[in-house]
Amino acid sequence: MAATRRPGRNHLFVPGPTNIPDRVLRAMLVQSEDHRSVDFPSLTKPLFEDTKKVFGSTDGTIFLFPASGTGIWESALCNTLARGDKVLSSRFGQFSHLWIDMAQRLGLDVIVQEETWGTGANPQRIEEALRADKNHEIKAVMVVHNETATGVTSDIGAVRKAIDAAGHPALLFVDGVSSIGSLPFKADEWKVDAAIAGSQKGLMLPAGLGVACISPKGLQAAESQAGKNDRLAKVYFDYADQRKANPTGYFPYTPPLPLLYGLREALDCLFEEGLENVYHRHAVLGEATRQAVAAWGLKTCAKDAKWNSDTVTAIVVPEGVDAAKIIKHAYVRYNLALGAGLSEVAGKVFRIGHVGDLNELSLLGAIAGAEMSMLDNGIKVTPGSGVAAASSYLRENPLSKA
Ligand code: PLP
Repeated sequence: MAATRRPGRNHLFVPGPTNIPDRVLRAMLVQSEDHRSVDFPSLTKPLFEDTKKVFGSTDGTIFLFPASGTGIWESALCNTLARGDKVLSSRFGQFSHLWIDMAQRLGLDVIVQEETWGTGANPQRIEEALRADKNHEIKAVMVVHNETATGVTSDIGAVRKAIDAAGHPALLFVDGVSSIGSLPFKADEWKVDAAIAGSQKGLMLPAGLGVACISPKGLQAAESQAGKNDRLAKVYFDYADQRKANPTGYFPYTPPLPLLYGLREALDCLFEEGLENVYHRHAVLGEATRQAVAAWGLKTCAKDAKWNSDTVTAIVVPEGVDAAKIIKHAYVRYNLALGAGLSEVAGKVFRIGHVGDLNELSLLGAIAGAEMSMLDNGIKVTPGSGVAAASSYLRENPLSKA
């Protein structure tokens, strides 16, 4: 329970966990039931099929684990790779950093390509590294699609082209934790072998359900680990156990029922809106946020428009200002939760998450609150300028394509 009662609605604008639609909340309010009953597969079998749609996949296999995004990262690595395997990864923000750290701690040999924070994966450098790997020792390329810490989206289609241009057989792993369900994601077209998502962002659920979509090649890699002495240890996360149970609609362990019912409802919300409309809505809300930032005379952490993320904007505060103060003041005074700067950009940026279940007026509330908090903290933005710029843009650009 919050320490202090804050009247009115809390405006949740961290880039996850995101706002949960009321109907999804209601759908999760279920009595426990027998997850081995004859009825249970009528919930789960369609879920395994329908979840693939948000990954842009028909060929993939969905794995659902009670875990956050970090857990599902681990499942993808420990099922498909062996100790000492070389993997290639770019580091350009806190989440790409943490994924690299995990791979290293699991015993993988990570070749790290450092990129400036505020940029993303560099397909040309990836291609060069793969071309140089004549013996195909690199087993996987790991890319964070949407770097939530800096508000940067990498071009996964271009990474795929780079891998193909190098004629390299490496697996492609993509962290879609803050993109899947909000930004276009094409697991089949981009030949993503392990795409991973968490429930608490575009899927509009509480944290706690990790989702992986594994390609046939990824499954083959998992199968080829069986019996190897140097395979990575896993028990709970072993895809093989899930693969025995899931096709019949069951789980090897007790599944998190409310989250499964919530996922059903959340997918229905996304499909009713239409995935193309969902992506369009995020694009419009992202651009409206950037219009506000420009009107404030501030810059985003993304170094160039091509990196702009449509799910989160990291806003660089003027030199000498502590962004943490703006975030704290927005929360305490205006009941608005903004995202903090993480690691290298701590104190330098605050983030507005525009991901999940939101519309024009909810976003304008966050922009107004951020503006008020900046003014209260001595940042000389023109009062009303961000709201004016964003609202003009939103009036001209409807959220729905239809
Ligand atoms: N990857 C990205 C891009 C994220 O934004 C996050 C969390 O915000 C994670 C991974 C880690 O996910 P979790 O906190 O659900 O473990």
